[in-house]
Amino acid sequence: MDYKKNDIVTIEIRDISHEGEGIGKIDGYPFFVKDTVIGDKAQVRVTRVKKNYAYGRLEKVLEPSACRREPACPFHRQCGGCQIQVMDYAAQLQFKEDKIRNNMIRIGGFAPALINQIMEPVVGMDDPFHYRYKAQYPVGTDREGNPVAGFYAGRTHNIIANTQCLLGVEENQEILEIILEYMRREHVPSYDESTGKGLIRHVLIRKGFSTGELMVCLVINWRGAEPEGQDGKSRRGGKSSVAGKEGSRGPQRCLPAQERLTRRLAAIPGMTSISVSINTENTNVIMGSEVHTIWGKDRITDVIHMRDSVHAFRLTGEEIRFSISPLSFYQVNPSQMERLYALALEYAQLAGTETVWDLYCGIGTISLFLAKRAKRVYGVEVIPEAIEDARRNADRNGIRNAEFFLGRAEEVLPEKYGREGIRADVIVVDPPRKGCDGACLGTMLRMAPERIVYVSCDSATLARDLRVLCAGGYEIRRIRGVDLFGQTVHTETCVLLSKLKSTQHIEVKTDLDEMDLTKAES
Ligand code: SAH
Repeated sequence: MDYKKNDIVTIEIRDISHEGEGIGKIDGYPFFVKDTVIGDKAQVRVTRVKKNYAYGRLEKVLEPSACRREPACPFHRQCGGCQIQVMDYAAQLQFKEDKIRNNMIRIGGFAPALINQIMEPVVGMDDPFHYRYKAQYPVGTDREGNPVAGFYAGRTHNIIANTQCLLGVEENQEILEIILEYMRREHVPSYDESTGKGLIRHVLIRKGFSTGELMVCLVINWRGAEPEGQDGKSRRGGKSSVAGKEGSRGPQRCLPAQERLTRRLAAIPGMTSISVSINTENTNVIMGSEVHTIWGKDRITDVIHMRDSVHAFRLTGEEIRFSISPLSFYQVNPSQMERLYALALEYAQLAGTETVWDLYCGIGTISLFLAKRAKRVYGVEVIPEAIEDARRNADRNGIRNAEFFLGRAEEVLPEKYGREGIRADVIVVDPPRKGCDGACLGTMLRMAPERIVYVSCDSATLARDLRVLCAGGYEIRRIRGVDLFGQTVHTETCVLLSKLKSTQHIEVKTDLDEMDLTKAES
């Protein structure tokens, strides 16, 4: 195995990693090669050699796989955001199903026969492009000194100009071009991470899937100084002629020639809200905590339709309206989100008499769906603004049987159950990537609901948590992936667990930190 950097090798790709790299072996020694798919025969340049494996870069496809297809985006190799764009869509869905299955078996420790028996095919998209209704473009400066918006190349912070990401909605391009043109004309500098100087950092764009309402939020490195080219006095709190009716208090004029920009953006059909978010920290966190509306409303509205997952996701005719601010968590792919929630609702099997908990509830999206079919719903979420949104959304939709608690699930749940004795027939969880806290799982087991519905954006931590729940007296009944992120390696998964009738309560270890997922996964 004497490979060196820059060696050229010919490899047949036989497998794929969870990160979407093709894997091929020469005499049992594996090479990981980005941008290849199973079935490709490829010429590869060795880039990094380790003891047990190496990385390579695709130089040339010698014989293409039957599931390889022309990438739709010219930047896909530089960007790295769409790890599996060269795979046709049916193969992408199969990849996601296999990834979930592997994690269930390797990390969850479940029998392959059980998983194969209950696993259903991944719910795919109608159109796997143009599905992201939220985009965050970094803004920088090119070599000639012009402002650019685009994406970070690979794992770097170098911005490659591209205002036309194929995953986004078509309005993104027009909005970004207006902002860049305005920056050139008014000499508004892009933020520079290395010096902490400059003004425009990111542009956040959101579109209501059903309403078409558009929101633009410019993330700015504004330190309370005057807009460039203005007089010396601070205008903090000063009223601008374009401040919207719902404009929040605060600096409404922090951009030079602000009216010129807002007027042009406001002319785009659907434009509803333009704001700035102030972020002066030198971090990777995109949004600052302060947001000020500079034109139009503070929020956009979206409508989510209820669907019947048993009947091919047919619309039931019911809908829920959501109000979304620049800081709200709201799934980026609302069309597939409707299907994911329909599945969660089907798994919950509600007859209208149940008490349901929705842990990690965000702005109450799943909670309000559940509330339509349950007697009572309790949502728990750690972000105060999201809880306010959830309450407001319940009110707006005339939903009175949903109550929301602020705090960590692992703290609120034991408290409400232990002290107040609130019980649960069904518990739904939708945690962030790191999964559920051990204390939360432990309390769920003590509450012993009939059913647990686990919605997950990371099937590795999902499998780890399912192992704990199954050791504590539950069994997995159904598993199904939902593709919310076409062209990427990411997938959502929905799982139904039922309480085993015969099993007594068992104390199980819920100290999850001791399990090393990276090892288990590889
Ligand atoms: N169910 C919602 C949100 C899911 S995202 C939806 O589908 O829109 C996960 C949410 O969990 C985020 O809103 C995050 O703020 C919240 N969260 C993260 N850690 C938490 C914790 N320990 N307790 C409660 N909520 C938490």
